[in-house]
Amino acid sequence: MIEFCSLASGSNGNCYYIGNETDAVLIDGGISNRRFMERAETAQIDTTKIRALFVSHEHYDHVAGLKSISHRHNIPVYFSAATYNALSRRKRPQDYKLFDGVNSVKVASNIEVFPFKKHHDAADPYSFIVKVNDSYIGIITDIGVADSVCVDSFSKCRVVFLEMNYDYEMLQNGSYPQYLKERIHSENGHLSNTDAINLIQNHSFSGLSHIIASHISAENNSHSIIEKLIEPFANRYCIELAPRFAAGNHYVIDD
Ligand SMILES: [Zn+2]
Ligand SMILES: [Zn+2]
Repeated sequence: MIEFCSLASGSNGNCYYIGNETDAVLIDGGISNRRFMERAETAQIDTTKIRALFVSHEHYDHVAGLKSISHRHNIPVYFSAATYNALSRRKRPQDYKLFDGVNSVKVASNIEVFPFKKHHDAADPYSFIVKVNDSYIGIITDIGVADSVCVDSFSKCRVVFLEMNYDYEMLQNGSYPQYLKERIHSENGHLSNTDAINLIQNHSFSGLSHIIASHISAENNSHSIIEKLIEPFANRYCIELAPRFAAGNHYVIDD
């Protein structure tokens, strides 16, 4: 079996759980361990299976709880070297390891993490696809533009946590200052709803079954807009909108 769950998603914190019968891995640690434990309990997640935590980039919403989660669960945190160096000293966990971005990292016999470089305004940002048993699960958020590497990774995914950050009209007409609007919309910002829909429409793996819309902006997006956009896909995929302040569904599916 493979299992997965969003424990936090969006600018207030990100943390995604992915595992199988015996082992699991976390992607990002943007919430405190206390919050993490509350939500893991609600979602009925077995935290004793977690073997490692991977960090996508040093932005606060992805690293705020690294130290406490790593310490309490006695797990190493993996960074790229430049991401580790970009982190302030007091946020650095004691138990850390580096990935080079070229080679995958095997964290358990049937869990292998493949980092891939992405476009985002951080020191050395990566996203990940995680091979669990024989399936790939993608965690594809905080991406300004879906380049060929991203498309390639996405097109392997049976399950994907896919960023649907903003609706273009809402962003343009919203209250954010102009520089921030430009940053979000730029190649080093975030994926819009339509960017994500294009990926799904044009580059999905034939076995894609679950899409969790992730890192949804509170200011520049709305659930009703996303629901309208995904309606044509509702028969084909199981689709969830990841909550910002709670655990999402804990999925347990057959291999
Ligand atoms: Zn970011
Ligand atoms: Zn983020």
